[in-house]
Amino acid sequence: MLIILKHGAGSAEIESVVREVERVGYRAHVSEGEHTTLIGAIGKGPTPELIEHFRALSAVQDVIPISKPYKLASLEVSPRPTVLRWNTGATGGGEVLIAAGPCGVESLEQTLTAARYVKKHGAQMLRGGAFKPRTSPYSFQGMGQEGLEILAQARRETGLPIVTEVVSPEQVDLVAAYADVLQIGARNAQNFALLQAAGRSGRAVMLKRGMSMTLEEFLMSAEYVLAQGNMKVILVERGIRTFEKSTRFTLDVSAVPVLKSWTHLPVWIDPSHAAGKRDWVTSLALAGLAAGADGLIVETHPEPEKAQSDAAQQLTEAQFADMMDKVRALLPALGRKLAMELEPA
Ligand code: PEP
Ligand code: MN
Repeated sequence: MLIILKHGAGSAEIESVVREVERVGYRAHVSEGEHTTLIGAIGKGPTPELIEHFRALSAVQDVIPISKPYKLASLEVSPRPTVLRWNTGATGGGEVLIAAGPCGVESLEQTLTAARYVKKHGAQMLRGGAFKPRTSPYSFQGMGQEGLEILAQARRETGLPIVTEVVSPEQVDLVAAYADVLQIGARNAQNFALLQAAGRSGRAVMLKRGMSMTLEEFLMSAEYVLAQGNMKVILVERGIRTFEKSTRFTLDVSAVPVLKSWTHLPVWIDPSHAAGKRDWVTSLALAGLAAGADGLIVETHPEPEKAQSDAAQQLTEAQFADMMDKVRALLPALGRKLAMELEPA
């Protein structure tokens, strides 16, 4: 069960509720947010009497019985969708938000060129990795802080908010000083220290599904961010490992309706890392939206064949423009629309 303390509950009150939780044989997990303190009482399903017992404590605002292992991510705790907002639009409220840009930041010119055309074709957010988590230590690792500076310049010019990856807990403060959204990649999806540090930063977190993660494990990872009092999390299905080798990963489209029936958090699709090949990206993007995804994060590069990472899957500008045309054509059939159409820079 989740015990929500009254606003302004002090450490003595928190301590007394924790002691009571432990006295009745549960483990207490305290998460102190900016305004509210939550105590997860972890143990066997509580009886109605036990719930009433905790509701009667003076420091307690409410008690919510939660059957699922993930608590704060569950629809039981927040039945209404979580909506995250930026200057260019929102996600989670029904509109479709598109983040697009290169896999990695490689130069000012490459990033600015991509930023200008993704905005022109209708994206509301710029993606680009300054720190790249590569399978091989000999591959391009990203431009680091210089890459973050380039992203900041692209934001100044286009007004697009930035999503960029953070790969270690020590880098969270640095990346959070530049990024609007911290991306945590598939390879780090169960790096619990990183998830906690990103949660503490207060920045929105875009969490990719690990390539061998069940959906329940995925939500447990999101729970690490939420437990820091940071409810700004976007879940991204980006393909999982299966026996199929023709695509880089297998896009689990069913993750979208399943997650949306379990959680209030926005659910996005990354068609690029699933497809692994640019010619297949648009089909997967449309499938994701048709399944109910709240947004897309898509890789596109001014000269994809010269890209230093993920060259085969990055869309050309023409392909990105074509994908956006198809998205615009599909959305009315779904009763949805793009988060916002911006004036070209
Ligand atoms: C990326 O977005 O470039 C990336 C590395 O994604 P993933 O973590 O999904 O592989
Ligand atoms: Mn990539």
